[in-house]
Amino acid sequence: MRLSEIVSIFESAAPLAYQESYDNSGLATGEPEMEIHKAVLCIDITMAVLDEAIQCGANLIVSHHPVIFQPLKQLTGKSSTEQILIKAVRNNIAIYSAHTNLDNIYTGVNHKFCEKLGLEKFRVLIPVQQGLKKLVTFVPESHAEAVRSALFDAGAGNIGNYDSCSFNSPGQGSFRAGEGSNPFTGEIGKLHFEDEIRIETIFPSPVKSRVIRALLSAHPYEEVAYDIYNVEISNEQAGSGMIGELSATMNEIDFLRKVKNVFQCKVLRHSKLLNKPVKKIAVCGGSGAFLIPAVLSAGADVFITGEIKYHQFFEAEERIVVADIGHFESEQFTIEIFYDILKKNLPNFAVHFSSINTSPIYYL
Ligand SMILES: [Zn+2]
Repeated sequence: MRLSEIVSIFESAAPLAYQESYDNSGLATGEPEMEIHKAVLCIDITMAVLDEAIQCGANLIVSHHPVIFQPLKQLTGKSSTEQILIKAVRNNIAIYSAHTNLDNIYTGVNHKFCEKLGLEKFRVLIPVQQGLKKLVTFVPESHAEAVRSALFDAGAGNIGNYDSCSFNSPGQGSFRAGEGSNPFTGEIGKLHFEDEIRIETIFPSPVKSRVIRALLSAHPYEEVAYDIYNVEISNEQAGSGMIGELSATMNEIDFLRKVKNVFQCKVLRHSKLLNKPVKKIAVCGGSGAFLIPAVLSAGADVFITGEIKYHQFFEAEERIVVADIGHFESEQFTIEIFYDILKKNLPNFAVHFSSINTSPIYYL
């Protein structure tokens, strides 16, 4: 399997356009045409993970945190990052990362977080703004179904928990094919009327090029007529954090013990308990404390994230319980998302879950 094909599978699932401005997700090392035969999946790339990849015969490492985060001006081996990069290149190992783009997509880090906690009815806490576009196209009736399916497969037509959303109205299209054209229907030089369906659907702007490619390949016409409009509503399919509900209320200490058990944390730091039953739970993998004000507005009972500083605990204002379970612990299941993406698209591809806990934090 070519590296470029694997990269495109990951970027179809988690488009790079969803990454935050400070991030550096994507391919860090490796030539797109190289053949990949096995991948190691991990959260962080350390020298130990690189050695693990070499030992198990993998030539791709897929990580959550990018190996290059700060721009590099030299590659001389003076830092551990540079040493990892040099060794990866010498051993012909490609490195690919999906970081904040995987945090922000609906089926990403926080979706997995909610699943692990057994939450129901979960939704994105702060949806991305101005992230949607509308596509309108005109398709001969015989091909309407094929074009709709291709658009939906490319990521169009998702609204909330509904997929395959479109509006379809019949009408007549007209055209006259000119010299040198090769019309799908009608004759050169003659005005032609064709029964067509006007298909309208919506898509997130990061998948625009994929949606257009799908339209052009499924549509039978030589010249495809389509319009794209900006839509001024937020994109509920992507954004920061998630909020959901427990199937039944729990008392807060039992719930926190459950969290500690699910994420296998040695330590769980939390704000003052409020002696209230809890049901509505907000989550954010990694450093999510910036979401505390949004969690308060959303009326959650508890907020679980991977990093909360001392002063940020005060922001809970004794209205909710906020809990810090550790950055690595909160993102550890992200490798299952990588696995799911690869297995769905390449069922026979060899993958290896890194057995190394790369958290740099130890507890006495
Ligand atoms: Zn992280």
